[in-house]
Amino acid sequence: MLILSAVTVVLLVINVKSTPEKSKSSSFYIVPLGTSGGLDESNLSSYLLTTVNESTPNSAYISLDSGTLRHGLEMAIKQNCFSSQSLTAEQFLQEKVKAYFISHGHLDHINGFILNSPNDKSGKTIFALNETIQIIQDDFFNNQAWADFGPHGLKLYNYQILDPLSTNSIPIPNTDLNVRIFRLCHTCPFLSSAFLISRRDESSASILYLGDTGPDDIEKIVQIDNSTYYPRYLEQLWQTMGPLVVANQLKAIFIEVSYSNERPDHLLFGHLTPKWLLKELDVLRSYHSMENVTIAVTHIKPEEGSREKIMKQLKEESNSNYNFVFPRQGEPIWV
Ligand SMILES: [Zn+2]
Ligand SMILES: [Zn+2]
Repeated sequence: MLILSAVTVVLLVINVKSTPEKSKSSSFYIVPLGTSGGLDESNLSSYLLTTVNESTPNSAYISLDSGTLRHGLEMAIKQNCFSSQSLTAEQFLQEKVKAYFISHGHLDHINGFILNSPNDKSGKTIFALNETIQIIQDDFFNNQAWADFGPHGLKLYNYQILDPLSTNSIPIPNTDLNVRIFRLCHTCPFLSSAFLISRRDESSASILYLGDTGPDDIEKIVQIDNSTYYPRYLEQLWQTMGPLVVANQLKAIFIEVSYSNERPDHLLFGHLTPKWLLKELDVLRSYHSMENVTIAVTHIKPEEGSREKIMKQLKEESNSNYNFVFPRQGEPIWV
């Protein structure tokens, strides 16, 4: 009886733990600055990432989407996420954030970056698909919506277009990381993207961060002759990720679930539900068990009770095949 209740207590503790904590084998440290998929401008998709060596996070961070920066940094500093305690949010942004990775041009992924650009330090690079760089250049840094801080204007930032057809990873300046980009469909033919961020050391430990995406079975292009074409970008992505899972290099996948399963397929608008996420992840699991890969669920739309509903649906329908975490602003994740 005593043993049984001890087991129950341990199980309860495991269930309650919301985010992975520091361990000797941690490769990355991620600080969520914003986690929701819209409406609340103080909590929009934005994740800072750095490498971990001997249980200590490096001080050079990259920004994976930048929906909320300043408020997220203020929260993270208040919650002692960083060792450099004395820096303000603005100083941290200027000195410690070395580059920006924008998955697509929607406001909820770019807002914080644009608004904070006037006080940012010069010389940083914005990495994205050509299509996303065009949006930043033409729709934001156009001297109408905002001043042009890009390389053709005030020259504060450089643009680095990443080629989704290239199989090479390229080094991220002032960090010990490399990046490779992949296309995603976010209401075809509108493109979003995923970044594979890898350590440049021999471990090649990696994290896959996905911007908004719809399911392969829904995302289609209607062609001029009225025939339909399914690009199936997620399937291609999982094919590339398979060997990394087998080699135990892939530490985490940050992927969206915007709505609960009650959302009908014709109203997904390029997003996933628990049902669709599990269908996609099962493709990846066909290569290898996913027990060593943390799945961080992002971009939950802030509707009443939807976070709890999505957590419940994922846990109930995944048969414990996946290790889900649900990031919260200012709560670090070690993987
Ligand atoms: Zn979004
Ligand atoms: Zn979007």
